[in-house]
Amino acid sequence: MTPALSVPAVGAPFERTMIERRDLGGHDVMIEIHFCGICHSDLHQVNDEWGGALFPMVPGHEIAGVVTAVGDSVRSVAVGDRVGVGCLVDSCGECRHCLAGEEQHCLAPAVPTYNGVGYDGEPTYGGYSRHIVVRDRFVVHIPAAIELADAAPLLCAGITTFAPLRRWQVGEGTRLLVVGLGGLGHLAVKIACAMGAEVSVLSRTLAKRADSVRFGASRCLASDDSDALGQLAGHFDLILNTVSGGTDIDQLLGLLAVDGTLVTLGAPPQPLQVSPFALIVGRRSLAGSVIGGIAATQQMLDFCAEHGILPETEVISAADVGEAYARVARGEVRYRSVIDLATIADQAALAAPAAEGLAVLDG
Ligand code: NAP
Ligand code: ZN
Repeated sequence: MTPALSVPAVGAPFERTMIERRDLGGHDVMIEIHFCGICHSDLHQVNDEWGGALFPMVPGHEIAGVVTAVGDSVRSVAVGDRVGVGCLVDSCGECRHCLAGEEQHCLAPAVPTYNGVGYDGEPTYGGYSRHIVVRDRFVVHIPAAIELADAAPLLCAGITTFAPLRRWQVGEGTRLLVVGLGGLGHLAVKIACAMGAEVSVLSRTLAKRADSVRFGASRCLASDDSDALGQLAGHFDLILNTVSGGTDIDQLLGLLAVDGTLVTLGAPPQPLQVSPFALIVGRRSLAGSVIGGIAATQQMLDFCAEHGILPETEVISAADVGEAYARVARGEVRYRSVIDLATIADQAALAAPAAEGLAVLDG
């Protein structure tokens, strides 16, 4: 048994509970979780915005920790290694996508780290917990240059932005627009700058302009500044849309050069609206991208270590998860909250900020 922060039903506050992890199989790795990031996808899921949510739910798919035990057949990691786990904990390993190292597209399909069901028929529980057991293929190494708290957000926000930047061959001089400067957005800016791109940011206001520049962007625009946006019509080769709410897709498409691509990463529940003319004129593409494969996740971590790319994190205690959710929902976090799971073990009475978002109650 291991302590976890669990949501018993949609909209309910977090409870501290004890959960069971499976016995260590031959290819399993037991990890003591030190830090877990709070991704906006966690909010979408505890609020059942995508449908089909499974409760009780223990969210968390930006997991960084230390290996405490390995199964007999594990060769890739050893006890004491600093490791990470992202959004997936299993896949069939045999379909063409798994064989191509793109487990996120597994035809079986792949098993999500939480809010899913494993191939053993048991529900999966995520990283807001002290320990997790994960199949070895889904465990990546955290380079020595990256602290565990900084590694956590890279396991989802990092790979989700790194993968499309690679897929659309961002490099020297690529004109990239990042829409939404949150957990994903700020890492997209840093990674794309390290790849040599000329990066601009589109945000709801100019409040994050100084941060954008500090992360390497050459300009920051407000989404209601139609004059500035008008001057950039047809300018960008690629746009990454990381917004967690609705966006004006036609407005974004109009900023693309001929043959440019708008990649949707944000996953709000509402449908995207697009005018055919916004695609026809300029032969533009509207695309999407979901996380990334395990090999690419390791490449991303190594790339970040090599280029000194670290997320901007605020470390919080387990007692403050409810408040952190409310702050993510209000867009106040700069730029990723990371839970220190050492604080989950011995909480006597957790604070219960029930006013907004989800509260944490003593279990
Ligand atoms: P986040 O940290 O909350 O950042 C989202 C940003 O979007 C905010 O910082 C804000 O940027 C902007 N924003 C928020 N609400 C908005 C609204 N109503 N209208 C316009 N802009 C708004 O979230 P995140 O963790 O980066 O996740 C972003 C989205 O990506 C979520 O929908 C998440 O589920 C999704 N996601 C997708 C994948 C994937 O594989 N495709 C993986 C992870 C996450 P400004 O203040 O700059 O405007
Ligand atoms: Zn995520």
